[in-house]
Amino acid sequence: MFVLYLIFPDVTAQKDAFLRQHGYASFGLPLRHQRIAMITTPPMLSFDNTEIAFAHKSEKELRASYLLFKAMSYPWLVQWGTKLTPWAIRSGLPVQGIIRNTIFRQFVGGETLQATIPVVQRMAAYNVQVILDYGVEGMEGETSYDQARDEFIRVINFAATQPNIPFMSVKVTGFARFALLEKLDAGMHASESDSLVKRYQAALKTLPVPEQQEWERVVSRFKTICEAAKNARIGFLVDAEETWIQEPVDALTMIMMDTYNKQDIVLYNTVQLYRHDRLVFLQKCHEAAEARNFVLGVKLVRGAYMERERNRAAANGYVSPIQPSKEASDKDYNDAVRFCIDHLAQIAVIVASHNEQSNLLAVRLLDEKGHAHNHPHIHFSQLYGMSDNITYNLARAGCSVSKYLPFGPIKDVVPYLMRRAQENTSVKGQTGRELGLIEKELKRRKNGQNSKK
Ligand SMILES: Cc1cc2nc3c(=O)[nH]c(=O)nc-3n(C[C@H](O)[C@H](O)[C@H](O)COP(=O)(O)OP(=O)(O)OC[C@H]3O[C@@H](n4cnc5c(N)ncnc54)[C@H](O)[C@@H]3O)c2cc1C
Repeated sequence: MFVLYLIFPDVTAQKDAFLRQHGYASFGLPLRHQRIAMITTPPMLSFDNTEIAFAHKSEKELRASYLLFKAMSYPWLVQWGTKLTPWAIRSGLPVQGIIRNTIFRQFVGGETLQATIPVVQRMAAYNVQVILDYGVEGMEGETSYDQARDEFIRVINFAATQPNIPFMSVKVTGFARFALLEKLDAGMHASESDSLVKRYQAALKTLPVPEQQEWERVVSRFKTICEAAKNARIGFLVDAEETWIQEPVDALTMIMMDTYNKQDIVLYNTVQLYRHDRLVFLQKCHEAAEARNFVLGVKLVRGAYMERERNRAAANGYVSPIQPSKEASDKDYNDAVRFCIDHLAQIAVIVASHNEQSNLLAVRLLDEKGHAHNHPHIHFSQLYGMSDNITYNLARAGCSVSKYLPFGPIKDVVPYLMRRAQENTSVKGQTGRELGLIEKELKRRKNGQNSKK
């Protein structure tokens, strides 16, 4: 049984055709701009179905993934690997071939935009969308920042040519000097105002004129990317980074949402729920969106820099911004999911997580509230190379779901790869789960059995 909604005819032809073919709404476009959103009654959702999870992978590819995750289950190997790999690349040792055929292939879409096309198309065949991420990190200097801005725009224009790429993501440190962000952040913390924007304005005034001008160039790059995203109808996701640079990123993103999220939903900020102050922050952002009448675009993550945050807090003698326990992070994450789904009229949310419970919770809440799984204000996403059981089963259940797909030259995506290796070391956690699922699927294929529960 399905319900067919006819809304306004205002979607690019290619994306529209894809939507109709696959029966889901184009996330990132406001409801009034969707031509057709077909809502099908989904089958029962389970993340244990490895047949659906790995249908896109050959046995050879599964075995290669298995060996990689197995290697990552040895903490000593990951420790050495994450130290030696960046050094080997810098020293020009011939390691790129090994990296390309192992960890790079698992977690990265390709070295160039063009190289990602087969990966992107393969996902489209399974109703899985893509968030493109230009994975180059750590470049400094005005010329590099301008180049990064141009590259982001190239990514946006490329995304517009592909029917299943509704978003691209950006780190503000890609086009702003880290130390300048840090200085602004400190200035904002020195201000006593309750208002994020007032703190930002006050901190800007304390900068010397050359730094104010440098910041103006950052703002100008940000606006140029927003304009390109708006024109191409691609969502622009701003990643969250370390707490000591995050305040100006939040302020700038909120100010831009006030302009760009009135008609369409162009911009999304990221909220890290491993921080103990972020649930309140999310609620305040929602209040601001209501007061100013724009849609709050928000990507919910737990957060990727926990050790760095804790170490810095300990070294500098301030209270850690990180939650006291995993349970506390989980609670705030799930409460944030609840809050967003309770306010879907004013919030467009991306549930960016590999946590099965959080994903199941989001789908259950949609069901309870009678929202379609492909409601245009909710999207799900996992990193490419991880948790295919979640992504592909969500897609099968009619959810709008994507893989976060980085691309870039091997030498430039090494920091991203090292984070992925570290994230996957715990046997109890992600790696153990991935290994178990691949083993189950290999066994199922060998026995020719159907693993559906
Ligand atoms: C699409 C996408 C976009 C992303 N964008 C960003 C981004 O912009 N910024 C960013 O920082 N990260 C980002 N991430 C990475 C994300 O933060 C990590 O993948 C995520 O933290 C792993 O958590 P999980 O929700 O998958 O679930 P789980 O595996 O259930 O949770 C693991 C996480 O819980 C938290 N945690 C673990 N132990 C503790 C503890 N003892 N105390 C407190 N908290 C604990 C940590 O955040 C840890 O990473 C993104 C991820 C995805 C999928």
